[in-house]
Amino acid sequence: MTIYCIGRNYVAHAKELNNPVPEAEPVVFLKSEAAQRGIESAPVAFAGEEFHHEAELVVRVGRDIALGQAGDWDDVSHLALGLDVTRRSVQTQLKAKGLPWTTAKSFAGSAVVSPLIQKEMFSDLNAIIFTLHINGTLKQRGAVSDMIFPIPSLLTYLASLNDLRAGDLIFTGTPEGVGPLRCGDSFRLSFEREGIHWTGSF
Ligand code: MG
Repeated sequence: MTIYCIGRNYVAHAKELNNPVPEAEPVVFLKSEAAQRGIESAPVAFAGEEFHHEAELVVRVGRDIALGQAGDWDDVSHLALGLDVTRRSVQTQLKAKGLPWTTAKSFAGSAVVSPLIQKEMFSDLNAIIFTLHINGTLKQRGAVSDMIFPIPSLLTYLASLNDLRAGDLIFTGTPEGVGPLRCGDSFRLSFEREGIHWTGSF
């Protein structure tokens, strides 16, 4: 199983970190499978550091997409919400040096994924809105319709790199509002329209 992550998929978030808005191709990076955890408390590497939360829609690939084939919503079996937990200060240093982001993005506890919800539970996939509360305060609110690269485009692009396999997860990018997250903080991830909520502890 591979965890793909998309960077800068919402204009307002790219701007809040002073990054250029991608036009032709999405920004892609990976997290290790071992970085994944659920919403319950779990061991976190670098636990004494201050992280950044990035709330994201996570899609699970439901069937293999062969190299070079186009992807579509039909290829997605489940949706979830996740936190792409980031060592922002480390990432900023790596970016300045032109180095890979791996040690800022892929470490134990850095890929928080809620329980998976069958795609059929959502009446309008393009109208999904999700929110993140930290310690009871609303921090991020994302609308799938605001994505620069919609889900079918992401699937097609990732399948231009290599086969996508059933079970692969894709973190699809974060909306604006990223900010500090520390071990012990409580968080709430919600699919707003569907009234689906998960409360966890980081
Ligand atoms: Mg992210």
